[in-house]
Amino acid sequence: MQQPLPVIGIIGGGQLGRMFIEEALRYNVSCVVLDSDPDAPAARLAQHHIQASITDAEAIHQLAAQCDVITYEIEHVFVDALEELEQLGKTVYPSAGALRIIQDKTKQKAFYRSHDIATSDFVLVNEPTAWLPAVRNKGWTKFVAKSGTDGYDGKGVQLMHVDDLLDPSAIPFNGAVVLEEFIVCEKEISVIVAVDASGNTCCYPAVEMQFDAKANLVTYLFSPATLSAQQQEEARALALKTALALNSPGIFAVEMFLDKAGHFLVNETAPRPHNSGHHTIEACYTSQYEQLLRILLHAPLGSTNLIKPAAMINILGDESFSGPYELANESEILRTEGVYIHMYGKKTAKPNRKLGHITILADNQQALIAKTTYIQSLIQIKPLP
Ligand code: ADP
Repeated sequence: MQQPLPVIGIIGGGQLGRMFIEEALRYNVSCVVLDSDPDAPAARLAQHHIQASITDAEAIHQLAAQCDVITYEIEHVFVDALEELEQLGKTVYPSAGALRIIQDKTKQKAFYRSHDIATSDFVLVNEPTAWLPAVRNKGWTKFVAKSGTDGYDGKGVQLMHVDDLLDPSAIPFNGAVVLEEFIVCEKEISVIVAVDASGNTCCYPAVEMQFDAKANLVTYLFSPATLSAQQQEEARALALKTALALNSPGIFAVEMFLDKAGHFLVNETAPRPHNSGHHTIEACYTSQYEQLLRILLHAPLGSTNLIKPAAMINILGDESFSGPYELANESEILRTEGVYIHMYGKKTAKPNRKLGHITILADNQQALIAKTTYIQSLIQIKPLP
């Protein structure tokens, strides 16, 4: 490991930053976090917390002045400031250029098309009056509308029917929007790719996501995904092609659909550790967080192999309340072998807010499903009196 150990600056102080710092501390590496929330999950593990917005250029420069290398755990960072840092010779991984493409869904889709990366058919529109002609022209009945810059965790994404457009007030987003063909999915898959500064790469085994249609959030995932060896390879190759096209070191989570005809289509890419890689902490030889740390430290990439089949369940805020909370049935959950609770230290619950997750390991897929179903039945977020 290079000495003296660099100090790492993380823009965003959520759970991804927190789990990254957990790994950094194992290597005695210090991190500084930039986040406006005084109780940000990553803040209490950081050596220092700059309490300011992730879109505040001055604060980003202040962070950089205290750190040797900069990364981020959320896309909505002020990218111009990152570009300035690069021009000043600071290391920013992934690069500002990669983030600029990804943080705007219209640019991201256009990028896939121009790089011949398989993705669902789409059209870009700039104003509400353009929606109906565009959708009619494509001949779609169902389609998905995605706001260019306002979306994460299913917000800013809406499944629609062409008839919805007969009422102009039903148009949910203004400005630049992607309208996408609705894909009837066989599966939703994610492949996390690591790219180091020398161009070495490795991929994690594909994971299969299960969604809560109502909340539009991943509720649990399994790895390895139930794919044939050939499909695993196709998914891996597409993820690698996508990450390499972004031309930057970093961790990239490539989310894709497997359609009914057996084709993989890239949905979107996250330039950071991802919810679909939480299980790698216990289930893989090298977690996605440690892998990012290795990339930032210019250390060798670690093995991405799975030690055991794994599942991950998000612990979400209950629909019924907002406020202080506790995880119910904790003792019962902890009595099961191979179950790991992660709570992110968020002070209050809100409906569907990600409060923690549970990783479950088992010897085979069948045992994993049984154990996951049991653990899921126990998970409950209860209000504190
Ligand atoms: P976010 O960035 O908010 O996570 P996504 O683009 O990943 O938004 O969309 C959220 C979910 O909506 C996807 O995981 C998928 O279940 C569904 N979805 C998105 N695009 C399509 C599409 N073109 N066809 C069918 N379902 C889609």
